[in-house]
Amino acid sequence: LGKIVARVSDDQFIFFFPGMTEEEAPAKCMELKEQILGKLRKIYVNQSNPAFGYCVVNDGETIERLRGRAMFAKSLAKLERTLYHAYDEKAAIELTNTVLLLDEFDRTLERSGVEVWYQPKYDIHGKCIGGAEALARWRAKDGQIISPGRFVPLLEERGKIAALDEYVFTKVCLQQKKWIEEGLPVVPVSVNISRGSLLTSDIVHRYQQILESTGIDQSCIYLEITEDSVHADVVKIIKAFRQEGFHMLMDDFGRGSSNLANLRRDLFHGVKFDKSLIDLISSQVEETVLRSTMQMVQSMGMQITAEGVELQEQVDFLESLGCDEIQGYFYYRPMKADAFARLLESRYRS
Ligand code: C2E
Ligand code: MG
Ligand code: MG
Repeated sequence: LGKIVARVSDDQFIFFFPGMTEEEAPAKCMELKEQILGKLRKIYVNQSNPAFGYCVVNDGETIERLRGRAMFAKSLAKLERTLYHAYDEKAAIELTNTVLLLDEFDRTLERSGVEVWYQPKYDIHGKCIGGAEALARWRAKDGQIISPGRFVPLLEERGKIAALDEYVFTKVCLQQKKWIEEGLPVVPVSVNISRGSLLTSDIVHRYQQILESTGIDQSCIYLEITEDSVHADVVKIIKAFRQEGFHMLMDDFGRGSSNLANLRRDLFHGVKFDKSLIDLISSQVEETVLRSTMQMVQSMGMQITAEGVELQEQVDFLESLGCDEIQGYFYYRPMKADAFARLLESRYRS
């Protein structure tokens, strides 16, 4: 059986196995890897970070294509820290799709093609719209709307979320300014800030500058930070935002493994209870958990917003507990900016 071994650079190698099956190849790769490692140890003492990628060779394949496969396999070995890796067609397709998607997203963002929608928050005490959350919506070339559930985690994973967050923040500032000028009774709009954004340098200063350049007040924009973003390294940044006068909300409380230590009055003005907690309503035992958690948050002097409220019985229960705001399909779904403006206007007139 044949084999071709190529050294890509220092301690990086790719193998090609002509005439071999996928089942036979791993053993051959192991054998070659051990031989090469033995030699490498003599050359690079402790400083070696080798990687091996391999693929089988079928008739009719071009050299370029095979090289691409073996190199991709080597990248997987590095990425997964497995020392060696076979070419994986499924992983290659996934990666290509991700790269294409992110590339397309970059271009959409550049031409300001990402829309900002608004989901009103219903103020239980005042029985009116008390605020709204700004939510990104990506309109694809075919006109279809792609929900953030698809692209936000990808942007976060690839370290590209800060551009979206700043874009949405800027758009909301400009929109609020426009609505104020038009005489609309504006309400505070909250924007989401991912952990990746919080960790970019100078974020507080940049956001402050954007706000100042649009000439609106901090009271028009709230900031939402998910509970799982809150680690020691961002506490200082949250405090700095507060010092600048921003109203801070903890988002998605109760979604993951809730850490009660994160419920800090010195960091957050309000807490948004995640849909997964709201969905507990109507089960006796779990209602008790929700009731006591809400009481605790209230006793700390923080406001409560319930997210993902869809049913009358949930509204009744939350109202009986003195919850402050409701954000959910029961009252309003996310809507385009002009629809939200019309809603504000109609409420003002009525
Ligand atoms: P989130 O910040 O917790 O936003 C609330 C999500 O719950 C929204 O989903 C909203 O449409 C959905 N929702 C509201 N009420 C209901 C309801 O009654 N039932 C159900 N089933 N869902 C409801 P959306 O717009 O798909 O956003 C998903 C997540 O994407 C957001 O969760 C947020 O984490 C993230 N996201 C959206 N826009 C941005 C952004 O500009 N930056 C960042 N970093 N994340 C964003
Ligand atoms: Mg949110
Ligand atoms: Mg949420």
